[in-house]
Amino acid sequence: MDDRQFRTAMGKFATGVTVIATDVEGDVHGMTANAFMSVSLSPKLVVISIGENARILEKIKQSNSFSVNILAADQQELSMIFAGQIKEHREVVFDRLDGKPVLAGAVAQIACEVSAEHVEGDHTLFIGKVTDIHLEDAEPLIFYSGRYRALTEEKTLV
Ligand code: FAD
Repeated sequence: MDDRQFRTAMGKFATGVTVIATDVEGDVHGMTANAFMSVSLSPKLVVISIGENARILEKIKQSNSFSVNILAADQQELSMIFAGQIKEHREVVFDRLDGKPVLAGAVAQIACEVSAEHVEGDHTLFIGKVTDIHLEDAEPLIFYSGRYRALTEEKTLV
């Protein structure tokens, strides 16, 4: 099994798209991520997985907090900005939720404090204790097989 086959197989898992954001002394840094899942209801925990070369890794360790912003279908450009797919710098304004930087218009904004971190291979898993949530009524952005997608509603004949 080579790297390409592994990546292709993992890309067959359709996901939403998030922007992880953190604030170190007023300097906000964001990164696009789809390695995100819910871990526990009581206490309320989530997990994100950050690559060892990502600049945001050290920043989350410093701030000990982060937000997860689940992007809406009309926020593909934000995903591309925070994945480095758009090279030129774009000014992005962040709102605040429980003091963490969050993106307006996201389907869900989830504020977290780091409760544990685990290095696994070339990624670090951060367990986040959820401290606040804000929801918007919007359709999510989807990522599948290396491409951005949108949900289409199945038309059923009743
Ligand atoms: P940088 O390269 O430092 O930043 C990324 C971009 O965001 C840069 O262009 C930077 O200018 C911009 N940026 C950062 N902060 C701001 C700000 N405040 N205002 C404006 N622009 C800003 N990688 C993972 O580790 N885990 C994942 O789960 C993951 N999932 C991904 C899912 C998708 C759909 C995609 C497309 C990529 C994913 N990646 C993931 C890859 C990751 O997004 C990129 O490798 C990223 O560029 C590396 O992050 P970095 O912290 O080094 O960011």
